[in-house]
Amino acid sequence: MISDIFKHAGRILHRVVFPPKCLVCTAFIPDRTNPCGSSGPLPAANGNSASLSLHRQLDRMLSRYLCRNCILGLVAVESPICDCCGFPFESRKGVDHRCGDCITHPKFFEIARAPLVYDQVAMRVIQRFKYNGKLQLVRPLAELLLMTYRMFWKTDSVDLVVPVPLHLSRFRSRGFNQAYLMANCWKKIAGDGENLSNGHRLERELLIRSRATLPQTSLGREQRTVNMKNAFTLNNSSEIMDKHILLVDDVYTTGATVNECARVLVNGGAGRVDVLTLARAV
Ligand SMILES: [Zn+2]
Ligand SMILES: [Zn+2]
Repeated sequence: MISDIFKHAGRILHRVVFPPKCLVCTAFIPDRTNPCGSSGPLPAANGNSASLSLHRQLDRMLSRYLCRNCILGLVAVESPICDCCGFPFESRKGVDHRCGDCITHPKFFEIARAPLVYDQVAMRVIQRFKYNGKLQLVRPLAELLLMTYRMFWKTDSVDLVVPVPLHLSRFRSRGFNQAYLMANCWKKIAGDGENLSNGHRLERELLIRSRATLPQTSLGREQRTVNMKNAFTLNNSSEIMDKHILLVDDVYTTGATVNECARVLVNGGAGRVDVLTLARAV
C-alpha cells in the first residue's frame, strides 16, 4: 500500500521533472490524469462523426506520444474511396468505385486499405518509428492497424499475414522490419479473449527481398514499378496454394511495392492477396 503511494508519487515527480514531449512537434504533452492538465473532450477534426470516432481512437492510442494538435492533424481515409486500391476521391460525395489507375493498370491484389492519409503528420509519425527508432510507437500503431484489419476483414478469413520484407542490407542497417514488428504485436493486443492465431498465421520468411532496390521515395511512379520488378522471390510456394494472404506495410504510395509482392504471391498459387497499410498517399 505504502509502496504503491510512493510509486504513484514517483511517477508524478518524473512527469514534472521530465514532462513527455510530442514525438512529432516536440511540444510538451500535458498530464491528462491531472485535472489541471486536462484539456477537455476531443473536438471533431472536421465536424464529421466518422472522423470524430477515429480521432477518439487515435487519442486513446497515441496520447502518451503525440500532443493533441498532432493527433487532430492526422487525417482519416474516408469513403468514397477506390474499391480496389483504397484511394480517397477528392469529391466527398457518391459511393466507392474503381479509380482510373486501377482500371488502366489492374492490380494483383484485390483490395488495399489504410486508416490514415499519408500527410505531413502521418509521415512524421512513421518516420519517427522507422528512421529514429521510436519503438514505443510499435504498439499504438499496431493497434491502429489491427482496428483497421477488423474493420475490413473477418480475421478468420485470412490464412496468412505477410509483412513486406526488407532486403537484408536494409534490415541490418535499420535493425528491424517495421511491418513485422506491428503485425507481431497483434496477438498481445488482442489478448486471450480473441484467438487471432485461429484466423491467420504470421509468415515472416515467406517472401524474400532478393534484390536491393533504390529507396522508392526518390523515384517517380513509372520508375517505382521498374525499381520493384523482380525484387521479391517466394520462399515456399506449397505454403500459399489457394490461401488468402494479407500483406502488411507501413505506407501505400503508388502501390508498386505491394503490387509486386502480390504478383509473386498470385503467380505462386495464392488464392487472394489483400493489402493493409498504416497510411495511404493521396
Ligand atoms: Zn505535436
Ligand atoms: Zn484504385
